[in-house]
Amino acid sequence: MSDVLAVAEHRQGELRDVSFELVTVGRQLAADQGGELHLAVIGGDVDAFADELNLDGVSVIHTVDAGEEFNHDIYTQVTEQLFEEIEPSTLLLPNSVNGLDYAPAIASRLDVPLVTDAVDIARDGTTEVTREMYGSKVETTVAVDDDTVAVSIRPAEWEATDADGDADVVAFDADIDESAVKSTVTGFEEVAGGDVDISEAEFLVSIGRGIEEEDNLPLIEELVEATDATLSSSRPIVDNGWLPKNRQVGQSGKVVTPDVYLAIGISGAVQHVAGMKGSDTIVAINTDPNAPIMDLADYAIVDDLFDVVPELIDALE
Ligand SMILES: Cc1cc2nc3c(=O)[nH]c(=O)nc-3n(C[C@H](O)[C@H](O)[C@H](O)COP(=O)(O)OP(=O)(O)OC[C@H]3O[C@@H](n4cnc5c(N)ncnc54)[C@H](O)[C@@H]3O)c2cc1C
Repeated sequence: MSDVLAVAEHRQGELRDVSFELVTVGRQLAADQGGELHLAVIGGDVDAFADELNLDGVSVIHTVDAGEEFNHDIYTQVTEQLFEEIEPSTLLLPNSVNGLDYAPAIASRLDVPLVTDAVDIARDGTTEVTREMYGSKVETTVAVDDDTVAVSIRPAEWEATDADGDADVVAFDADIDESAVKSTVTGFEEVAGGDVDISEAEFLVSIGRGIEEEDNLPLIEELVEATDATLSSSRPIVDNGWLPKNRQVGQSGKVVTPDVYLAIGISGAVQHVAGMKGSDTIVAINTDPNAPIMDLADYAIVDDLFDVVPELIDALE
């Protein structure tokens, strides 16, 4: 009961960064408890993934040859069976769209408590999971007084592990009940405009709901051009269909680490901050001096963006 089981994540033939971060968290937890870190790789090119994930601190990698892409029903069944075989104290999943899709199902089937969106975990008898609330203004520590716990970890919160290891790679023969597989992946479609990778940008001009309407986009685009920056946004802009999904910064968007992040009319909700807090210099333009983004900003302009942005453009020209 001192082992840790973590489930890797991949998409379109590539492991996602969070898989390497899971190793960092998992090996620390396992070491603290004198246990081992088991990693599960479900579906896709499992042997190649196992090679990549054979990292320092991983004891066993369980490969499960079960389809190409993530499938809720298969991941749920396989993870449940692995959990029952290994009997770990902690099940670690990514706090990603996929991870959150099946974490509650597994927790319910195994009857273990689930704590989501962890930014820190400590285990010493009880498990203490740190989460952020109210736009990162408050940290809460959830103490789980149970022998076993499932935790989903927030991506980009831990350093990825990259040092080589010598894990045993073992094929796990999962017993998939096909009649319980109710969902099928029928294809994968890249969102139009996938040519821009905001995670590579050095200077991001990022807009939020403060810009009010799509007709105000050209004003921002003028600033983007004048500063030779890349345009990104908070989620409401994407939800409104004003910018494509690949421009979204945040927990369900991209994690960015530019030299400069200029947040215009963005409040700084925790899900947004999760994607941009690693920026070197953060500048905020916001009418609200108490917006959570102000706690992060290195420089802040407390004013109406419709006054500030034209003045900035004028100054730059
Ligand atoms: C599971 C989940 C995942 C999510 N993932 C993401 C994600 O990846 N990325 C993301 O961004 N959000 C995400 N969200 C949504 C998130 O919770 C917030 O709703 C969102 O980030 C708010 O966007 P915003 O800051 O643009 O809008 P708001 O919170 O509405 O903030 C608008 C800001 O603009 C300011 N403002 C208004 N008018 C002006 C003006 N004229 N001049 C200057 N400032 C002005 C206001 O003071 C305010 O601070 C997620 C939510 C959930 C539940």
